[in-house]
Formats: sequence, C-alpha cells, structure tokens
Amino acid sequence: MNKLKVLLASSEVVPFAKTGGLADVAGSLPLALEECGVDARIIMPKYASVKVSGDSTTIGKNVKVYFVENDDYFKRIELYGDKFGDYKDNLDRFAFFSREILEKCKKEDFAPDIIHCNEWQTALVPVYLNTIYKYDPFFAKTKVLYTVHNLAYQGLFPKDEYPKIGLDWALFNIDYFEFYGKVNLMKAGIVYSDAVSTVSKTYSEEILTQEFGCGLEGVLKNRESVLYGILNGIDYNLWSPEKDPKIFKNYSCDSLQDKYLNKEMFQKEIGLKVDRNIPMFGMISRLAEQKGADFVADITDKLLNMKAQLVLLGTGDNKYHVIFEKIAKKYRSSASINLKFDAVLAQKIYAASDMFFIPSRYEPCGLSQMISFKYGTIPIVRQTGGLKDTVEEFNPRTGKGTGFTFVEPKSEGLLAAVKKAVMIYKDKPLWMSLMKYVMTLDYSWAASAKEYITVYNRILDQ
Ligand code: ADP
Repeated sequence: MNKLKVLLASSEVVPFAKTGGLADVAGSLPLALEECGVDARIIMPKYASVKVSGDSTTIGKNVKVYFVENDDYFKRIELYGDKFGDYKDNLDRFAFFSREILEKCKKEDFAPDIIHCNEWQTALVPVYLNTIYKYDPFFAKTKVLYTVHNLAYQGLFPKDEYPKIGLDWALFNIDYFEFYGKVNLMKAGIVYSDAVSTVSKTYSEEILTQEFGCGLEGVLKNRESVLYGILNGIDYNLWSPEKDPKIFKNYSCDSLQDKYLNKEMFQKEIGLKVDRNIPMFGMISRLAEQKGADFVADITDKLLNMKAQLVLLGTGDNKYHVIFEKIAKKYRSSASINLKFDAVLAQKIYAASDMFFIPSRYEPCGLSQMISFKYGTIPIVRQTGGLKDTVEEFNPRTGKGTGFTFVEPKSEGLLAAVKKAVMIYKDKPLWMSLMKYVMTLDYSWAASAKEYITVYNRILDQ
C-alpha cells in the first residue's frame, strides 16, 4: 500500500519559530504521523529565526521541512507584527506563502494526498486549489483539511486589499470572502476545505454557538457534517522533567524531592524567598483578553496575602503589561513578573511551580495544562474548551480529579479555586498523590495522530 502523503502547512513550527501553541502542534504532530507510517512533511516561511541554510531540513526521524523564502516578507524578528501593530503587508505575505506552498509541491514533485492547513495564514491554500489550480492535474487527488486553532484570529483585511489575493472580485461575496464589508481569509478557508477540524471536542461544539462562534458560527454550521474536534497532544521528548535539559535537576514521579529542589533553586534565581513550603503559582501565557490574566491580576492582593508566590511569564497587550508592572513593583519579594517570551524560563517555571493558572475566557485546547501535568504542577483552570476536556476537578474525599476548576468567567471563581488548592496543598500526602497521578497522564500525540489519520482517510473516501 502506498504511504499516505501529508503536507502540514503552518506559519509557525517548533523548533524554528513560535508565538503560541500552533507552533508546538505543527512541530510535533508530523513526527507522530511519521511514527504511524505517514509520509509527513512540513512547510513554513523562512523567518529570521530560522537558522538553516538552504530551503529545507529534516526533523524527527526523517520529516522534511520546507521553507518558503522571501527576505522582504519573512526576514523579520517578529512573525506577524511589531510594537506598532500588525504588519501592514500581512495579506501580501501570507497570500504569497499560500501560493508558494502549492508551487513548492510541484517543484519538489510531491503531490500530497492531504494538505493540512492551519489558521488564517494558510487559509488561501484550499481557495487556490479550487480556483487557480482547479484543473491542474498535479493536484487532481489532493484534498485539504483545515484546522482552526483559534477562531478569534480570522485574518481580516480591508476590502480594498482584496486584489492582493489575486482572485476575481466575484468571490468577494457573503458566501466566500466577504465578512461585514471586510476580507475574511478564515471564512473562505472553511468554505473551500474538504473538512474542518478544531483542537478539542468541546471547542468544536462551542464554535457552533453565537457565544464562541466569532461571527462564523453559521458558516461552521454549514460544514458541521465534516467538522471534527481532535485534542492536541504534546511531545514528551520536549516536555518531560525526566529529560528536560533546561531545568536545574531532572525528576520523575519517583523523585519528587527533586521537583522541590528545582523550586528552591528557581526561587533563588529569580529573587523570591527560598522556601519549598510556600505555594508557588505559575502562569505562562500570551497576555490577551482570551487568557484571563486580568482575573489573576484582580486576585493578586488576596493571593499574595495568603503567603504564596506568583511567577508570571507573558507578553502581549500593553494594558496587561501596565497592570503587571504595577504588581511587580508592589510585590518585589513574592511576585516575579517577566514580560517577555522566553522558552527556557518557561521550562523552569513548569518545573518549579506547585500550581499553574489557566483562567481563560475561552480555550480551544490549551497546552499548558498538559505540560503542567507532566511536571507534577497542578492546573487551576476555567472550565471551557479543551480545558474542560482535560482537567477534572479534584475531589479530596475520593482522591479523584486532576486540578482545580471554576465556571463563571469572574475573578471570584478563580479565587475560590485558589483557596481550595491552597488548603489541599497543606495536606502533603494528599498533594503528593495528586502530583504523582497527574504525572502519569498520557497526552502524547499517539492517540490524536491516529484520529487525524482516520479523518484524512475519511476525506479521501468522501
Ligand atoms: P496559545 O496558542 O493560545 O497561545 P496554548 O496553551 O495552546 O496557547 O500554547 C501556548 C504555548 O506557548 C505553551 O507551550 C506555552 O508554554 C508557550 N508560551 C506562551 N507564552 C510564552 C512566553 N511568554 N514565553 C515562553 N513560552 C510561552
């Protein structure tokens, strides 16, 4: 039997460029597909951060990664924008990228069975396949799965930029690109793909509602028969306290004392009081409305008056930078506020923290809770999207559950969850058993990769 050929197209891929979870997924799903016997390849832009000579390399055992080169468009430090906002030429950049994805296939003589597109940056691929390349025999058998990782980022552009896409104005109507007078790439991607998926079961249901649909609920409803929810996994070769080269001391569920060693050394490094008994709360996040960092800011006084420590790593909207800079000044000895992107610091925080905040207003999947589990760090989450599918409220009586949860998007709910967590934290044997249990949970890609293969095959049978 011929190998299934899949090209995963993404605007960011670990280890080459990352702003969020999309990069983690794009860098690890293909490796899991490879393990399942798929000829999986990856394509991404060649940003300044890509330190590879030439236009391709391999990761995993032999997963080929192609880079689309264009120094004017991609040789920049930030991927999508800088302190002045989104780059003004984002539509030129990603329309170019999408065209080049198809051209690269031809140049490499690689006709994928499936092009697996992700987010708005590659949404034009299915559109081009069904228009410009419609009668191209090279792509006669190629189908597209389009994955929405976050429906709130749709790739919206002013109408007058539409010609940059290179398609007839006839497609600028409400069935395809038009969205309240603007150009909407994600909408066209959803319409033109053979199937659509998102990154957890609950989010795949939520996005059909007005509350979570970001105006595209109707468009998604029309595609409901080919809409799938497949939970992301994480790559335990990268995320494991047993192997992590960046933390102070490797540990496993059999050597939890060494997690506390990480905590103490980290406390020392970042200038917090060194004491393994002080509950340490970590948060690593884009600082955007979605992530609920304001709930954390709202409860900081109460939290830190409980004799706890807060370590925040994040970057994003200026308004949150201002809020957390104030907190940093006020609580020099109990809060460590790091307003930047720092992959190494992130690993140390996962290892050192006792608890981890993910109080999102919505969360398509969320990777931090799964990473936290592996590091024996207990997540405190809002019950939404993928968080709902992965974190179960801990019940101290039965010893069942994996974290602490709240429902209403309000800081009071978060505070109640924190209070409960701190109380249980004091019961050391109970806390140890909870840590040990979450460390054994398996959120590797193996199961999800199989689900993707099932969906790919279903599309090919369609
Ligand atoms: P999203 O993709 O919505 O930002 P996810 O939970 O899916 O959220 O993925 C976030 C990923 O990015 C995690 O691997 C997290 O550790 C990482 N991350 C987020 N912010 C930072 C930061 N400031 N520095 C380092 N890593 C970060």
